[in-house]
Amino acid sequence: MKKIIAGNWKMNLTKQEATFLTDGLLAINEEIQDKNVILFPNFLLINELIEATAGSNLKIGAQNCADHVKGAYTGEVSPMQLADLNCKYCLIGHSERRNIYNETDEQVKEKTTLCLEHGITPIVCIGENLESREKGEYINDLKKQLDFVSGMDVVIAYEPCWSIGTGKIPTIKEIAEITEFVHSQGFKACLYGGSVTSSNATEILGVSEGVLVGGASLKVDEFVKIIFA
Ligand code: PEP
Repeated sequence: MKKIIAGNWKMNLTKQEATFLTDGLLAINEEIQDKNVILFPNFLLINELIEATAGSNLKIGAQNCADHVKGAYTGEVSPMQLADLNCKYCLIGHSERRNIYNETDEQVKEKTTLCLEHGITPIVCIGENLESREKGEYINDLKKQLDFVSGMDVVIAYEPCWSIGTGKIPTIKEIAEITEFVHSQGFKACLYGGSVTSSNATEILGVSEGVLVGGASLKVDEFVKIIFA
């Protein structure tokens, strides 16, 4: 399986900045054939970036989707509309969605189901908070989140909440423990996400099927180093 290097741009970058970053990655297109590099821009740029990267080794995904296919859901974007643009990946249940927007495991399950019905690969994010990690309850908490998507053909992204954007990362042994646990639950691919940089990416990629990168995916040089880690 190709290593997945995913860049979650969150609510960052203007159109011009996003184009600059994408062009920088298209410049190394020939050298990334053995990787699965996926960018997650904001919804407004998805169509344009899918067109700009057509035929290349760069893939474009969405950071979120609605838990409905269509109807009176103002401000939402449906998996059917993403599929219509030929968008093939979607992040689901990112901790910022769960913690800031109170997204529930039931919604994560519904979004995942709808993405699969529309030919979109869901990257389902799971992760424990610091208290759960410190009390040693994290495996139970992660299992509860995984059980909602049990048996579904998804990529899992393990992103401990206490590591996202903080510069703190679990030890490599701790990341390996979760990768093995996720595999034991029937999922083939487990990415790690949380403060990934070019200095820790090589080790992390040794014990996971890939990385989900936030802040460090916003700088072309740094993201390129992670891709080649
Ligand atoms: C993320 O939010 O998916 C993430 C991993 O962020 P960062 O790399 O900035 O910690």
